[in-house]
Amino acid sequence: MEKIKIPKATAKRLPLYYRYLLILNEEGKDKVSSTELSEAVQVDSASIRRDFSYFGALGKRGYGYDVKNLLTFFKKILNQDTLTNVALIGVGNLGRALLNYNFKRSNNIRISCAFDINKKITGRILSGVPVYDMDDLKQQLSDQQITIAILTVPSTAAQKTTDEMVDAGVKGIMNFTPIRLSAPADVRIQNVDLATELQTLIYFLDSDKEN
Ligand code: ATP
Repeated sequence: MEKIKIPKATAKRLPLYYRYLLILNEEGKDKVSSTELSEAVQVDSASIRRDFSYFGALGKRGYGYDVKNLLTFFKKILNQDTLTNVALIGVGNLGRALLNYNFKRSNNIRISCAFDINKKITGRILSGVPVYDMDDLKQQLSDQQITIAILTVPSTAAQKTTDEMVDAGVKGIMNFTPIRLSAPADVRIQNVDLATELQTLIYFLDSDKEN
């Protein structure tokens, strides 16, 4: 399928649309208006229409959008047809929580292997996922053709582990450590800093109070 260039903000909203369309489809609904979508996913309808316009003529005025057409389209864009295996590095508290969660609501992403240096947990299967020694990283990622990894090691090990992942061919890192990682330009890093996010929330609540 040809790649469509879409703005980042639009790309971020795609999974929201997709999830709601799945629900509509399960309910047997054939069409959906931008107003209805707007209420369900909490995105204003002008943005929805603009987002959808990037994908060509998917909607008809006065009719709304065809749910099945949209689903087929989003499925392709979001790669929902193919299963993406992901690795997890660092099976501590957060790592275990993610293994247990294992992206249950998504049928196309799965943590298929985990890695740690702690001999007490390597060689075991946790929440259905095998935990390997870090020494096996390169071999396993190559065998399973994995290029995406979730990083949940302690901060002190974050950069070293990143270097090992990059060496093993990882091209996408979901970084749960507070460290800003350095990696080659072709490696994409998504930072998920839970403490900072909470701090931001607290900041906004405090400033709401002041106003
Ligand atoms: P816990 O209570 O299990 O220690 P935690 O999440 O606070 O939970 P951390 O010290 O953050 O623990 O470590 C997370 C996991 O990362 C641990 O299982 C640890 O063995 C593992 N780990 C530490 N260093 C490395 C490394 N260099 N490579 C891979 N895994 C590592």
